[in-house]
This record gives sequence, structure tokens and C-alpha cells, in this order.
Amino acid sequence: MSVLIYTELADGQYKKSSIEAINYGSKVAAQLGISSIVLAIGAASEADLAKAGNFGSTKVLHAADANLVAENIMAYSKVLIETAKSQNASVVVSAKSALADAVMARAAGALQAGLVGNVVELPDTTSGFKVKRSIFSGKAFAFTNITSDVKFLAIKKNVLALEEGTASAPVEKISVDTANLTESSKVTETIKATGTLSLPEADLVVSGGRGMKGPEHWQPLLDLAEALGAATACSKPVSDLDWRPHHEHVGQTGVKVSPNLYIACGISGAIQHLAGVNSSKVIVVINKDPEAPFFKAADYGIVGDVFDVLPKLTAAVKAM
Ligand SMILES: Cc1cc2nc3c(=O)[nH]c(=O)nc-3n(C[C@H](O)[C@H](O)[C@H](O)COP(=O)(O)OP(=O)(O)OC[C@H]3O[C@@H](n4cnc5c(N)ncnc54)[C@H](O)[C@@H]3O)c2cc1C
Repeated sequence: MSVLIYTELADGQYKKSSIEAINYGSKVAAQLGISSIVLAIGAASEADLAKAGNFGSTKVLHAADANLVAENIMAYSKVLIETAKSQNASVVVSAKSALADAVMARAAGALQAGLVGNVVELPDTTSGFKVKRSIFSGKAFAFTNITSDVKFLAIKKNVLALEEGTASAPVEKISVDTANLTESSKVTETIKATGTLSLPEADLVVSGGRGMKGPEHWQPLLDLAEALGAATACSKPVSDLDWRPHHEHVGQTGVKVSPNLYIACGISGAIQHLAGVNSSKVIVVINKDPEAPFFKAADYGIVGDVFDVLPKLTAAVKAM
């Protein structure tokens, strides 16, 4: 029996959310007294893959072939299904992501496993297998008892504290036949979002709304983001107006973020915006209207003009 952890790589490195999944899966494995095995798909060096050991895993299985590229969902799913079977996995863990949603759902279906997403805590295994998950855009929690033999858990990003050790895990190459799979769609090209930091994975986010007045006034926000080492985001109207790129749009219809710090600059705090950011650990709101709804969701609020406040915040961060 094992806990199998499905991970995703970016430029040959585990994504931060996958490291969280490794840590989480390894704790579940320790709780159940079984081994914790990482599945890594795609190009990466053995040394980089072995780092899974730092986060508690005892073995890494590495699959890489010509079909395992460009987020080929059918091929990734087949590798996960076959590996879960060969490793006798009783629990399969991943971080929640667009690709993982598709791959985990297919694999769970094939293995007749119960799947729970947005998991925020280790399972309670004292009687059954009870999982706590975040629902209604982070406004409530639900507890689900998974009764199938194999259990699939997709954990929410940025909710679990990482514990890092110094061990390294042995890496074993595996091969699964991924040729001739039926495909209803195929990714032919991927265009990477510009910007140095991945917004869904970011720890710190500085975000702008219509109160920033126009794309030509974004520099003070970018300066603060740079000083903090933060990713940048925006409200929906801002990306609709092409003031900022669409991959920065957060909210109900955009990217969901859960950073340690979310700074909202000139954003009113409409419910559709909050739906994508209300899992942030600390929310700071800068708005000139003291009645702006966002202040109700804020941990810290600054009533003021963004163009006065932002340069002062940036100077203060630099001084630190
Ligand atoms: C189905 C649906 C889905 C949606 N999905 C999303 C979504 O995913 N994400 C999203 O963001 N929105 C979404 N919306 C839109 C949402 O309802 C709001 O219209 C939008 O979030 C408002 O954007 P905003 O706060 O940037 O602009 P505004 O509502 O215009 O607010 C601008 C704010 O800036 C403040 N301000 C102005 N000037 C300054 C200044 N100089 N200094 C400081 N503050 C200033 C104002 O007081 C105001 O509070 C959705 C709407 C619908 C109907």
C-alpha cells in the first residue's frame, strides 16, 4: 500500500504547490504507516527530482516520453492510473490545478475512487477517512467521508505550512505506453504568461483595480510589487479594458489566489472579486472611499489615494 503523489513540474522543478502536495501526502503516509511515493511527469534532472525526499517522500517515479509534453491530459492520466495500480496506492494526492483537475478526475473515475478537492487539513482517519475541504469560494468548510477503497485528494494551494528536511529520495524511471490514446483535444502550443512570478503560486500579490485610472498609471503598483518580490494581479474590468493582461485577472471568473499577503489598490471589493482572493492570509486594502466594500474583508485598510499611498509603501519596504 502507498500514498501516491501526483506532481507537476515547471522548467524541470517541482511547482511550489506540488511541493506542498508532497509534504501533505508524506504526512498522510506517515499517519497510515505506508510509503509515500512521488510521481513526476516530464523532463527534469534526477538531482532535482530527488528533492522530494526533503519534503518526506521515500521514492520518486519519473515518467518522460514524447507524449508526456504540453499537458497531454490523456497521456498524463494513463500514467497516473497505471502507476496507482502498480504501486497499490490507497491514497492519491495532488495540488489543485487546472491540469490536475482533469488528470485526477479521469484517474479517479478509472479506479472508481472517491475524489475530494480543495482539501485544507490532514484527513481524520480515527474512524473512516474524513476530509475537511473549503467550499463556497472559501466562505465555509465541508467534511466528507470517503468510503471507496482508493481515495483521491486534491489539496488547496498555500494553506498548509511546509516542513523541510534534508533527505533525498531515490529516483526510478518508469515507462507507461502512452501511444495511440484517444484524444478529443490536443494542446498544440503553450504561450507562457509574461512576468517573472506565477500568480496562482505567489506568496505575495499586489493587485490593481479601476481606481488605478489607466495602464499608464500602473508604475507605482509595479514598483511596490518589485520591492516586495510580489506577483501582480488586477480586477476583471482592468483586464477587460486591456489595461493589464488577462492572466492577471483574479476573481470568480479569473485566477483564484491564496497568497500570504494580498494588497488591493483601487479595487471596490465586489463579491465576484472577493471570490478569488478571500483565501488570502492577510488582505490590505487601499481605497480613497472609506465605504468601499473591500474594507469589510480587509485585515488592514488604508483610506487614501493610491497615488499618494503606493510610493510611501514602496519607500517603506525598501527601507526595511
Ligand atoms: C458574472 C460576473 C463575474 C465577475 N467576475 C469578476 C472577477 O472574476 N473578478 C473581478 O474583479 N470582477 C468580476 N466581476 C466584476 C465585479 O462585479 C466588479 O464590477 C469589479 O470587480 C469592479 O472592479 P474594480 O473594483 O476594479 O472597479 P470599480 O468598481 O470601479 O472600483 C474602483 C475602486 O477604486 C476606488 N478608487 C478610485 N480612485 C481611487 C484612488 N485614486 N485611490 C484609491 N482608490 C480609488 C474607488 O473608490 C472604487 O472603490 C464580475 C461580474 C459579474 C457580473
